[in-house]
Amino acid sequence: MKIICVGRNYAKHIEELKNERPTDPVLFMKPDSAILPDKNPLYLPPIANDFHYEVELVVKINKIGKFIPQEFAYKYYDEIGLGIDVTARDLQSELKAKGLPWEKAKAFHNSAVVSKDFIPKTAFSNLQNINFSLKKNGKVVQNGNTSQMLWKIDELIAYMSQFFMLKKGDLIFTGTPAGVGKMDINDEFTGFIEDREMFKIRVK
Ligand code: MG
Repeated sequence: MKIICVGRNYAKHIEELKNERPTDPVLFMKPDSAILPDKNPLYLPPIANDFHYEVELVVKINKIGKFIPQEFAYKYYDEIGLGIDVTARDLQSELKAKGLPWEKAKAFHNSAVVSKDFIPKTAFSNLQNINFSLKKNGKVVQNGNTSQMLWKIDELIAYMSQFFMLKKGDLIFTGTPAGVGKMDINDEFTGFIEDREMFKIRVK
C-alpha cells in the first residue's frame, strides 16, 4: 500500500507557513515503511532538528481505481481514521528553498502516525462537518473541521486518481489545519475525531 498526502488544504495553515495558496491540490507520498508500528514510541530519526506534528483526517481506500469521476468517488472509501503527518520542518524548508522534492522531510521512518481503528463513514451525518483535534501533553494544539478543507475528500480522490492508481488499503492524508508545532522528546500526543480518542503516542 501507499500513502498519498495532501499539502496546503486548509487556508489558515497555508497562512501560518506563509505558503502560497495552490491552484491545484499539492500531493506527495510516503511509503508504507513510514507508518509507526502500533504501540511503538515515535523515535525521531537523526536527520533534522525541528520536527513538527500535523494532525490530519485519514481516508482508507477500499478498492482499485483510476480516473475516478468526482460523483463516484464516495464509492472508493468506507472508513475514516486519524493520523499525524510528522514533518522534518527544517529539512523541508531547505528542500523547498532549493526547489527539491520533499520526501526526505516527509517520508522518513515513523513519519506516518495512523490510528489503529477507523470509523465507518456511515457513523457521520456529514463528512464535511467532522471535528478532529490533537492534544500535546494534554493541551489542545490543533483543532480542525473538514468544512474548512479547500478540496473535499471526493474532489481529492478524483484529482489524485488521475495521476496515481488507487488501491485497496491505500491511505490518504487529507491535510492539516492551523496550529502545527514542534515535537520534542517525551511529548505525548493524543488525537481525537469528535470526542473519540484515536491514538496516543509518545515521542522518544
Ligand atoms: Mg501534512
